Amino acid sequence: MGKLKLSDRQLHALITALKLGEEIKPSQAAKRKAFSQYSIKDWENAKLTGIFYSIQRRLGLVDEIIEELVGISPLVLDPWLRATLRVAVELAVFRDPSEKTRGHLRGLAQFLSRKTHPYVGYYYYDLLPRILEYIPVIDTEEKRLKWEYLFPEWFISRMREILGDEAEELLKALNDTLPTSIRVNLLKAKPGEVENYLRGKGVRFERSPRVKNVLRIKDPFNPEWLFNKGLAVAQEEASAVASIVLSPLPGETVVDLAAAPGGKTAHMAELMGNKGRIYALDVDGARIKRMREVLRRTGVEIAEIIKADGRKAPEVLGREIADRVLLDAPCTSDGTIAKNPELRWRLREKNIPKVVTLQKELIESAWSLLKPGGRMLYSTCSMLPEENEGVVEWFLKKHKDARLVPIEGPYDEGFLPGTMRAWPHRHGTIGFFYAVIQKPD
Ligand code: SAM
Repeated sequence: MGKLKLSDRQLHALITALKLGEEIKPSQAAKRKAFSQYSIKDWENAKLTGIFYSIQRRLGLVDEIIEELVGISPLVLDPWLRATLRVAVELAVFRDPSEKTRGHLRGLAQFLSRKTHPYVGYYYYDLLPRILEYIPVIDTEEKRLKWEYLFPEWFISRMREILGDEAEELLKALNDTLPTSIRVNLLKAKPGEVENYLRGKGVRFERSPRVKNVLRIKDPFNPEWLFNKGLAVAQEEASAVASIVLSPLPGETVVDLAAAPGGKTAHMAELMGNKGRIYALDVDGARIKRMREVLRRTGVEIAEIIKADGRKAPEVLGREIADRVLLDAPCTSDGTIAKNPELRWRLREKNIPKVVTLQKELIESAWSLLKPGGRMLYSTCSMLPEENEGVVEWFLKKHKDARLVPIEGPYDEGFLPGTMRAWPHRHGTIGFFYAVIQKPD
């Protein structure tokens, strides 16, 4: 392949798209607006779009390089300068720009001066040679993996601590696109009905190997109609396994302590044959709104939606009222990176202790809600041990009468015997953790 050639106009369009992308969501809309402002034509659109999205994908790494060169986080720089530096780093470090394009990169100093202040233009002009000559130091395995798979280094270290060399397989799997996964809602659909609908549309799918009502759609297809009719809900296999592991029975009283947008509430209602009671709590108003819609569409009749902090649930509902409690805890969600690729750059190691504290407070609350003999499921879509085995071990140490009920599968044992973990690279689903804890009779 020849060297990358970009004109001034194309560079200006890219920078403007990145700058607007910080203000306008989705970023696709920002790109469209900027490209039309610079009259980007069809013949050049694909090339520029590719560069635009690849900057988004490796944004964290691009910003780390800028921070290394500038000495401060790019987030505190002028937005035009930030966007220009991001484009310059993308081209200089990750691509092979032609001599002429390198010249245009220098010319961006004038563009910046016009957009902001001549100072900013000088500053950029001074910095550019270091960007053009930048050679990364890749002297550790963590750094090699960071450059190859684009994850924060601390996250790579954590995964290597628990998986050793297998961590590379995990990082690879997190970069793969997961197929759209849906769970057929047996409260509304007859077995086979959804499959027939998909066949009728000529859409290829496969049944999940572990949960027969979960289907993975292999062709590009929007299942919106199925969702609107409540015949199916968007759900990953690992999420569906949570309700199955807790297995609430018809007639029981269940609390779903962090319930929105309601995928598991709907599944539990199905498993209970719409008999009994589910109290579905959440703190987030917007997510509760989505849950209300999901439960209405799926025909759930036994759920009472309550907007409340799960930590206050025993005060709201009373103590020892539930046969089962599902605590699908708020977490860092790193297990879902394959579904939300940009999430990796928002993960912050320093935020983990705060979320762990919330998880511990919520698991205490879940325990208070349980009747004697009742069972709770603690689950997260994080792969970090401190949010999973760490919380459960802490809890079991505190409550000597609590019993960890071993989970028999369908995934692998967690790092605490009796718990379970779904792994993206081993099981082809999102990363998930499960622990069932029972109260004595
Ligand atoms: N169980 C849901 C499902 O299957 O659709 C997903 C739940 S999501 C992993 C975690 C939820 O916890 C979020 O909806 C969030 O709003 C909620 N949450 C966060 N803090 C909470 C709190 N203190 N009490 C109750 N819910 C909380």
